[in-house]
Amino acid sequence: MRLQGIGHVKVHQHRRVLGRVKTISVTREGRRWSVILSCDVPAEPLPPTGVAVGVDVGVAAFLTTSAGEHDPNPTCLDRSAGRLGGAQRDLSRGRRGSARRRKAAARVGMISRRVARQRLDHAHKTALGLARDHDLIAVEKLTVTGMTRRAKPRPDPDTPRAFLPNGQAAKSGLNRSIHDAGWGVFLGVLRAKAERAGRVVVEVNARHTSQRCATCDHVTEDNRPTQAEFACVRCGHTADADENAAVTLLRAGRARQADAQAA
Ligand SMILES: [Zn+2]
Repeated sequence: MRLQGIGHVKVHQHRRVLGRVKTISVTREGRRWSVILSCDVPAEPLPPTGVAVGVDVGVAAFLTTSAGEHDPNPTCLDRSAGRLGGAQRDLSRGRRGSARRRKAAARVGMISRRVARQRLDHAHKTALGLARDHDLIAVEKLTVTGMTRRAKPRPDPDTPRAFLPNGQAAKSGLNRSIHDAGWGVFLGVLRAKAERAGRVVVEVNARHTSQRCATCDHVTEDNRPTQAEFACVRCGHTADADENAAVTLLRAGRARQADAQAA
């Protein structure tokens, strides 16, 4: 790539450049430079499939569809999460201004960037499959309230992107926040792919979806005998809890879509 004022630089190209390049930005994170091209990509509508899907986001599986398919969390992300936890621990233990702390900070940055790349790659693959196979995709609306229920992460003033311990069980808190961030990235990619393909993404308020029966609509905590199971106390419907939630989301999404078309 030729950059004005710098000359030719070697770049590692992650994806094919499609459409017309509208903006180019060059950023630096740590010792890594990135060139980001944003392009005007023409829409390429896909033929209708006649299939709609509800998608529930979980912690055990990255997502579960109303058809009962589980998409596991990418294992590379789990491994990175473990390493990131270790590096952040080292960072919090190192004395301010010490060489050890500087090294730990560089490692936290490196692993964070790797996590971001892995997440984006996974989001692209997963979203592509969903947009290709479905006309309508109902997903949980990402709310801020769900995220603030946990202890707030404390940004480290010395190191961008690193966080100090916040008193929460470190591993579960970290996994959870990695997961939430992943869902946000995934939704963004899904919206973009769906729009290009002429598909509809309906974002549904997810309140009670984990407790609502997909068959009879009955809502109660008692419908969840365990974290993994759904068993309706009114009509006896039993299902995998995530799948029940995905079916509930699909129903709500279809209703929303019907309302929107009627209006
Ligand atoms: Zn029921």
